[in-house]
Amino acid sequence: MKIFVVNAGSSTLKYQVIDMSDESLVCKGICDRIGATDGSLGTITHKTPDGRIYENECEMPTHAEAFESVVYALTKSDAKVMDSFDEISAIGHRIVQGGSVFPESCILDDAAIDEVEKLGELAPLHNPAHVLAIRACLKTFGDKIPQVGVFDTAFHQTMPKRTYMYALPYKYYREYGVRKYGAHGTSHKYVSDRLAAMLGKDKKDMKIITCHLGSGCSISAIKDGVCFDTSMGFTPLDGFMMGTRTGTLDPSVLTYIAEKENLTPADINRICNKESGVLGISELTNDNRDLVNAAEEGNEQAALALEMQRYQIVKFIGSYVAAMNGVDAIVFTAGIGENNPQLRKDICKDLQFLGIEIDDEPNNKRGLEIRISTADSKVGVYVVPTNEELAIARETKEVISK
Ligand code: ADP
Repeated sequence: MKIFVVNAGSSTLKYQVIDMSDESLVCKGICDRIGATDGSLGTITHKTPDGRIYENECEMPTHAEAFESVVYALTKSDAKVMDSFDEISAIGHRIVQGGSVFPESCILDDAAIDEVEKLGELAPLHNPAHVLAIRACLKTFGDKIPQVGVFDTAFHQTMPKRTYMYALPYKYYREYGVRKYGAHGTSHKYVSDRLAAMLGKDKKDMKIITCHLGSGCSISAIKDGVCFDTSMGFTPLDGFMMGTRTGTLDPSVLTYIAEKENLTPADINRICNKESGVLGISELTNDNRDLVNAAEEGNEQAALALEMQRYQIVKFIGSYVAAMNGVDAIVFTAGIGENNPQLRKDICKDLQFLGIEIDDEPNNKRGLEIRISTADSKVGVYVVPTNEELAIARETKEVISK
């Protein structure tokens, strides 16, 4: 069984085909500049694990044309991997916002597509693009291939009400659904499942803190096998500082700046989502590697950005230890979490009060599911590389098998 995994943005379409007989990658690719308004062509870059690459530029006014390019790449190009798209058993879509409507993955029938579209109010950068891609799939492939929605928010739907409510007038929750929804749920679920499998334990018997540190960052507290709390909130802006996002702020800061500079809500959204975080502080870059290099060369703002981010990560982990009244395992994942051993070591040094000790040898290894704390460490610390596409493919397989 082959599953086609789609991660659609407003102008991009990332995809993978995964062979579920052994969960191997068949191919992956990206279409870029879909719907460009400056007259430029769309692009496709398609790669196979044996090193073949297909690249092309063509008209891509909508996601439907992008899918036609993908079908060509998969079935006809020099990097083809199958004779016909009929070999695909199902399409799994990553969907950022499922609100309270989608506590789990499901088949995307007309009613579900309408709900995903309505939830665009809560994720204006993402859900409208997902809907475009889902409808384009229907146009390109008809309804013979089932489409499944896998929601970033679903894993967090188990949070108790006291952790997901904001202390605003209740009517905003009642009327507009204003509450914490979280994000990166597919990754937090995947790495915590892998951890339990790695240890041969039942997830229900562990208190786990998963740290997804990438361009976007979030930390989750997992208790009794389910999500208890998570750092991202109503939108993926909340939590601690990220590449370009602020994380938690005193909201008065925003009303103050808005008055000073005559800013609109759209300006505030742009500043907080795209111009802040480590980029805002360093005035240099949102890229962790570049920041580390700049800090080593004496750039004080780069060093400050890294110190602030690390401090906020430690604070979140500490607060979740308190929230769960303990922790058995801490897991690092995603671009920074998997690739920056020094940061992991520094964070854990600040958590020494928990009896954590890092073992340098495993901590310096890359790309492995591995315990990086010593055998004596009171809390197990692990690196588990995330694989959101595989997680989506697994969910998709499960939904269509029901
Ligand atoms: P996203 O999927 O959210 O775009 P990723 O999980 O790919 O993000 O993480 C991107 C971040 O990971 C960037 O800040 C990048 O600098 C960082 N990163 C990637 N490789 C390394 C590395 N070898 N060392 C340190 N940071 C790295």
